[in-house]
Amino acid sequence: MAYVITSRCAGFKDGACREVCPCDCIYDAGEQFVINPDDCIDCGACVTACPVEAIFADIDLPAEHSAALHFNRAFFES
Ligand code: SF4
Ligand code: SF4
Repeated sequence: MAYVITSRCAGFKDGACREVCPCDCIYDAGEQFVINPDDCIDCGACVTACPVEAIFADIDLPAEHSAALHFNRAFFES
């Protein structure tokens, strides 16, 4: 399991999630921030820090944000 940042982050990008992440696995991907799924330890700290509710556990990802799963992982495979 890992946490995923959705497109709700785009246009906001205040970096609050990165401030609280204990393992520095949140990166600026341009239009939005993304989480490295291999380094995320599933602590959930970023979820409560996000003012626009852009972050979800992958197993709770709403269907309309399903593309975010690939988008987050793909950033770290390029
Ligand atoms: S769940 Fe925890 S480890 Fe994973 S990205 Fe969020 S703050 Fe970082
Ligand atoms: S806290 Fe939310 S809006 Fe801010 S950078 Fe992180 S995901 Fe984007």
